Amino acid sequence: MSASEAVTDALRELHARFAGVREGRQADYIPELTRSDPDDFGLALVSMDGHSYSAGAADTPFTLQSVSKPFVYALALASLGLDEVSRWVGAEPSGEAFNAISLEPGTGRPANAMVNAGAIVTTALVPDSREQPAFGRILTCLSRFAGRKLDVDEDVHGSEAATGDRNRALAYLIRSTGTLPVDPVAAVDTYFRQCAVRATAVDLAVMAATLAYGGVNPVTGERVVSPEVAAQVLAVMATCGMYDSSGDWLLRVGLPAKSGVSGGLLAAGPARFGLAAYSPLLDASGTSVRGHAALGALSERLGLHLMKNPALPGSTVTLVTTADVLPSAPSGRLARALHERVGVVAAQGALDFTAAERVLYALDESGSEDADPVILDLREVTGADSDALALLHAGLSRLAREGRRAAVVDPGDRLGPPDLVRERTGQDLPRFGSREEAAEQCARAVAGPG
Ligand code: GLU
Repeated sequence: MSASEAVTDALRELHARFAGVREGRQADYIPELTRSDPDDFGLALVSMDGHSYSAGAADTPFTLQSVSKPFVYALALASLGLDEVSRWVGAEPSGEAFNAISLEPGTGRPANAMVNAGAIVTTALVPDSREQPAFGRILTCLSRFAGRKLDVDEDVHGSEAATGDRNRALAYLIRSTGTLPVDPVAAVDTYFRQCAVRATAVDLAVMAATLAYGGVNPVTGERVVSPEVAAQVLAVMATCGMYDSSGDWLLRVGLPAKSGVSGGLLAAGPARFGLAAYSPLLDASGTSVRGHAALGALSERLGLHLMKNPALPGSTVTLVTTADVLPSAPSGRLARALHERVGVVAAQGALDFTAAERVLYALDESGSEDADPVILDLREVTGADSDALALLHAGLSRLAREGRRAAVVDPGDRLGPPDLVRERTGQDLPRFGSREEAAEQCARAVAGPG
């Protein structure tokens, strides 16, 4: 037993709650998919530290089907960039079924990469060469997202290849528009193969977690795609990932997600979790019934809805005061008065734009006179992104211009390399190892020479 088993317990509870749901039916237009066990039901969650939790049939392999689409879209984006990919496949919800014949009038461009027509184009766009065939690149990419080598279920591939005329028809239609520089008809078999790649619910949770973690697989530590590509994929999943129920899903569950007709379903809580479910009984729009219910309940229980503000109020600035509260405050009247005029602001945790704004506001709040010096203590700050740093530098630069002296306690260089800080703030910001040292220096500066 261990404390973190409580997370597993939460999954087990959901599993028990929905395992008895018998609604829905297996997809049968790919005959081989009816061989899955309708009772199978697995749930998995992977954290941003790569911790993995699961319940039920989370290690049962099934084929990715449409769950492959966002990841192949990621590969196309990483290879060609958003502008080029967007010339050939859009990013608008189609409001139609996954296999709808929805091509933009005039251009023939599929609505988005999550419906079959768009996914076939996306697959066709993946670079294909003799040394590196497109499917090899796709399988490698899917495997890096999952953090292990995935393989193809040849029976499911054969079954779809034998019956997939509708997808071929879509590809012919796309080709008939004559604009695509690559052949969508030739890409259909590669598309069938990517749909037949086998994975488990735990794999899906790792794949979702990799998108949620800005493109770095939190289990292997490998960067799979850039943060920009991960964000682009999540955005399209949020608006188009659940076919014609995407709007309702975003409204109720509030997470970028993707479902597939074999019963796999994954959802990403950006910067939080990767979640996945597997259960082959599908609703009318092709999404796992139990998976939908379980991920919906989990999102509600853990407060994962994207539109709920995750920032904890007041968690950045831990102290706004004057230096006279420091243990080393001097006792002499003059020295003490000088010390009283030195403001101290301490911050903690990871700084993003929101947190940096709090820090700057606290700097303004500290000190009674405009010209009083202030100490910014960053020792408990664990990191700062580039937007937060730029804002902090700009704020410190304003202080300097207004004649307010600032000093930082920043042994870990959280504020960035001194050269950059000098360039951005227009001053040599004094840095100290402790608040006491900084306070003494500031008080001396207030007292002036002598
Ligand atoms: N291979 C399936 C198809 O193209 C994938 C569809 C899905 O999972 O929604 O029909």
